[in-house]
Amino acid sequence: MRNVVIMGSGCAGNTAAIYSARANLKPLVISGHEAGGQLSLTSLVENFPGFPEGIHGPELVENMKRQAENFGAEYMHGAVIEADLSKRPFRLNVEGEWIETRTLIVASGASARWLGLENEQKLIGHGVSSCATCDGFFYRGKKIMVIGGGDSAMEEANFLTRFGQEVTVVHRREEFRASKIMMDRARHNPKIKFLTSTVVDDVFDASKHLVTGVRLRNVKTGELWEQDVDGFFVAIGHIPNTKVFRGQIETDDEGYILSKGGARTSVPGVFHAGDVQDRVYRQAITASAAGCMAAIEVERYLEAEGH
Ligand SMILES: Cc1cc2nc3c(=O)[nH]c(=O)nc-3n(C[C@H](O)[C@H](O)[C@H](O)COP(=O)(O)OP(=O)(O)OC[C@H]3O[C@@H](n4cnc5c(N)ncnc54)[C@H](O)[C@@H]3O)c2cc1C
Repeated sequence: MRNVVIMGSGCAGNTAAIYSARANLKPLVISGHEAGGQLSLTSLVENFPGFPEGIHGPELVENMKRQAENFGAEYMHGAVIEADLSKRPFRLNVEGEWIETRTLIVASGASARWLGLENEQKLIGHGVSSCATCDGFFYRGKKIMVIGGGDSAMEEANFLTRFGQEVTVVHRREEFRASKIMMDRARHNPKIKFLTSTVVDDVFDASKHLVTGVRLRNVKTGELWEQDVDGFFVAIGHIPNTKVFRGQIETDDEGYILSKGGARTSVPGVFHAGDVQDRVYRQAITASAAGCMAAIEVERYLEAEGH
């Protein structure tokens, strides 16, 4: 029987592990299929406090893991494929092995939706990004492309005009899903151009390990053409990793955990941390902060129960 199991090994899970390990709770972290979380996909992280020259994403999360292990946190490979939160102890199926725990911190993140192109996947962190706040700074004076037609695409495009010489928004439909206010703001921005009824067929150049351009296709006419691009931002949404808790923890329509104050979820003893609940900020530092909050709540919860 575990005191606390942490589901996810990104910034949120690792920080929760540091705090709960230092509180002597001997946490077990289930790494999931993306050990280290989203930061393991990126190269230089320049906005995590404490690293004036920046730090590579994989190194940052590996450091956090080592820090947690130094205080006694254990890590387990695999993903939670089934969960029973209907009674205590909670039961989690980690790829065939059932684990029992008094408390659970859900730090399973929200995966960015990608277009699914082979070269797009190869170039994530090398010109392909899903986060303007994180990576916009790298594209000062460069040509930027944003894919998507919703509010987040418009927000990313507007933000990126602070850096890029031009920002092209590519959207597969003629009409946009974005709200009128976001659309108006984007349309009035002289640096933003729109390409509608257009999809991306390929991203170049994986052999150089950086984005140099894209091949585009007009879905109405079938016309194909290539365009030079330095930064390629995919803004077509995120998928919160909460499928295994469906019907057990309250979520919103898209599956983000609904907070019941602090780090609490609708199930007493189950806490949330990081992007799995946060559809607004989605940063390493906010995820880490949320991991800290969840661990402190676990500690107090267990103490109140006399453990
Ligand atoms: C390309 C890229 C660049 C970025 N750059 C920056 C940056 O420069 N600065 C910044 O502040 N932020 C950046 N971000 C955002 C930042 O990475 C996220 O906000 C942060 O990683 C969220 O942390 P998290 O722990 O909540 O979730 P994640 O990092 O998404 O981690 C989720 C964890 O949950 C695990 N998991 C999922 N499902 C299961 C399951 N069923 N069972 C067990 N485990 C599971 C995964 O394996 C993973 O370990 C970037 C994101 C991307 C994609």
